[in-house]
Amino acid sequence: MFAGIAELKDACPTCGFSFVREEGYWVGAMTVIMALILIVFGTWFVGGMLLTWPDVPWTVLMIGGLVLNGLIPILLYGWSKTIWVGLDLAFNPARAEEFRDGPPR
Ligand SMILES: [Zn+2]
Repeated sequence: MFAGIAELKDACPTCGFSFVREEGYWVGAMTVIMALILIVFGTWFVGGMLLTWPDVPWTVLMIGGLVLNGLIPILLYGWSKTIWVGLDLAFNPARAEEFRDGPPR
């Protein structure tokens, strides 16, 4: 279903479901990637503090955190789109007209 590291194909190759359900749809994926960044950074920083207390390597935590915050959006943005589509489908089930070749049987 991927068309690049951060891109999805227009529609699911199996069932033809159109991934972009409305204008500005990927704003939801940006919310998902920001949540992922917060979770990973929080785990890195708080976990690093707890594991090394009282001699916390602040410089290592800060530089590692900056690297993580830079890499996660690049590496996981495509996956954040799939998570967003899944979350959205859980609350707003697919309608028949959202399938490229008609609804799956
Ligand atoms: Zn599908």
